[in-house]
Amino acid sequence: MTGRVTLVGGGPGREDLLTLAAVRALAEADVVLYDRLAPHERLAELAPGAELVDVGKRPGHHAVPQSEIESLLVEHALAGNHVVRLKGGDPYVLGRGSEEVLACHAAGVRVEVIPGVTSAVAVPGAAGIPLTHRGVSHLFTVVSGHAPLTDAELANLAGLGGTIVVLMGVNTLPQLVAGLARHGMRADMPVAIVERGFRAGQRTTVGDLADIVVAAGRARVSSPAVVVVGEVVRLAHDGDASAADLMARAAGFAAVTS
Ligand code: SAH
Repeated sequence: MTGRVTLVGGGPGREDLLTLAAVRALAEADVVLYDRLAPHERLAELAPGAELVDVGKRPGHHAVPQSEIESLLVEHALAGNHVVRLKGGDPYVLGRGSEEVLACHAAGVRVEVIPGVTSAVAVPGAAGIPLTHRGVSHLFTVVSGHAPLTDAELANLAGLGGTIVVLMGVNTLPQLVAGLARHGMRADMPVAIVERGFRAGQRTTVGDLADIVVAAGRARVSSPAVVVVGEVVRLAHDGDASAADLMARAAGFAAVTS
């Protein structure tokens, strides 16, 4: 009998940010293919009946190519297994989840998608940064920094107003910042970079459009990290001490209290 695939959004990395539906799917899994950014430390307990396969990717080192992950999903399901594909964050936010769904459909394999807490929203939140705030920002845009943005995209982003959230954006930060500035974004627009959200070593680096590249270089900022560009950065609270200190210098808090 053909098995099935459940694509599970694992949230930003902390086990208690898994949904109940995610925990249930793991408990019923025969095979779990998991990513580096999904919570995986206690998978042996959460999925006691399952074979656990690490298909984790590191930036620049694709451990298992996407096409192979899709083949593995389909093969295990066709062999009659309940396959859980445990992914970081939400499967449908810059996570190639839809490609995996299409691969299952193409092979005639039943597939269900369980949403997850996306890092795009939760990681800024972990640093005390709300993506919207009445009177400050009523929209946010989530964009991949995996490859540099085009000039047209940068122009649109710069003109949009509101909050810009960049995933996979550490390596392309210089192009992003230069492009936004070139298209008229103010030099004192606050920028925060939140590394390793919800994990040991979570850290926030704050600056503005003019100095964030230098600040990030000095702090040796690395992936995984979420970049936030916008006035909402000034609203951060409960960030770590260095962030609070930087923010106090970088930001006129009075400017956003109206
Ligand atoms: N589908 C995922 C995103 C996949 S892209 C989601 O919805 O969250 C991977 C990127 O997500 C990373 O490069 C980083 O930018 C971000 N990310 C995921 N987990 C993170 C974490 N715990 N801390 C900081 N950034 C994280």
